[in-house]
Amino acid sequence: MASLDAEVAVVGAGPVGAVTALFAASGSRVVIVDQAHFPRDKPCGEGLLPPGRAILARLGIEGAVRDAGAPTLRGIAFGLLGRPQVSVHFPPHPDGAEGLGVRRLRFDAFLVERLQQNPNVAFHPGVMVSKIRLDGDAPALVTSDGEIRARFIAVADGLRSGLRHQLGWTIGPRGPHRYAVVGHWRDDRRLDPWVRITADQGMEAYDGPVGPHERLIALLCTHDRMKEFAGRLNQRYRELVAGFRPEAGVPLDTAVAVGPFNYRASTVARGGIFLVGDASGFVDPISGEGLATGMQQGLAFSQAIRQPDPESSYRRRHRRLTAGPRRATTLLVHLATSPRRADRAVRGMQRAPGVMPKLLGMTLGYWGAGRLTPRDWMALLTGR
Ligand SMILES: Cc1cc2nc3c(=O)[nH]c(=O)nc-3n(C[C@H](O)[C@H](O)[C@H](O)COP(=O)(O)OP(=O)(O)OC[C@H]3O[C@@H](n4cnc5c(N)ncnc54)[C@H](O)[C@@H]3O)c2cc1C
Repeated sequence: MASLDAEVAVVGAGPVGAVTALFAASGSRVVIVDQAHFPRDKPCGEGLLPPGRAILARLGIEGAVRDAGAPTLRGIAFGLLGRPQVSVHFPPHPDGAEGLGVRRLRFDAFLVERLQQNPNVAFHPGVMVSKIRLDGDAPALVTSDGEIRARFIAVADGLRSGLRHQLGWTIGPRGPHRYAVVGHWRDDRRLDPWVRITADQGMEAYDGPVGPHERLIALLCTHDRMKEFAGRLNQRYRELVAGFRPEAGVPLDTAVAVGPFNYRASTVARGGIFLVGDASGFVDPISGEGLATGMQQGLAFSQAIRQPDPESSYRRRHRRLTAGPRRATTLLVHLATSPRRADRAVRGMQRAPGVMPKLLGMTLGYWGAGRLTPRDWMALLTGR
């Protein structure tokens, strides 16, 4: 690649980078690079919450994602192992109240195809960015294939963002250090449209449909329980899944481990550089909001670059988008990381059925923690 100039350059063509580029392309010439060649997989819970589905609708591609086999998600069912589960619909909202199960291998490749079809986007797979240079008139990306100068750079290089680190903006990972082990299963029965969360002994199992006969099962736990996977990740994963979901089906792949999580950034926009998606901070997969929140940040970036002060406009919007989800996720991690707290919280949410919809609404960014009444806190923390 020769030296390229564009108004917007995006690093990373995961869902957030791709959506950022697609929004920015209505009005700007965009260059986007990813070190990977697609299709490529990425360990994820693969549940796209309603605000993320609304972003796809806004781009005019939601129908195509559904037609390609992404099943509808109606809400969350949760409980303790061996006890009845309680189901809670996603709260009603003008943007819709249903999510989608998106198998990342297919979803990310689908978005990349859309990049390739867009005349305002130049997409370069297999190009790694090693550094951001800030010494010229405009920021520049140093890549394995030459240098790219752009007026605005959106950094969407994921959880462990090497570029955020190089800029000195990384905070974390902060404790408690949590990990996930993820795999896919084939089940020829009709899968139901719920993400099922089951807690047991400091571990949670997430089970959701991601294709007509395909489900994802992710196990989440802290470092302590992660030790039992040492040297036998796949075998232990399958043993635990057999306990959580005896009728999971047939394993489709080898389990993959990922973590720790909980990174933040000291700033999300400065000097023409904007962090979007996981690169801008990610607390934990427990709330399943990463894709939806990140994709909304992509839209916010494309709007901020048309404002007189793009960086402060983006920082404000980013704060508004992430405050609710971050608080809800932090609270859920606190409750989940002790079996006693988890037990009390699940009992409390089952006794006070209004609490879980409120927490879900916080996770979706619809409202803040002020919605939780003293009675709700009591139920969550004491189980009564
Ligand atoms: C176990 C687990 C379960 C989760 N469950 C859910 C869920 O159910 N729902 C949900 O919404 N979210 C979930 N998340 C979070 C979700 O996976 C992330 O929020 C999402 O992937 C963020 O997308 P992204 O585009 O920011 O980053 P990524 O998807 O990580 O994409 C980053 C891209 O950048 C590229 N890249 C990295 N470095 C460079 C470089 N130097 N040069 C060029 N390219 C580079 C990578 O190749 C990659 O394609 C989960 C996460 C985990 C770990």
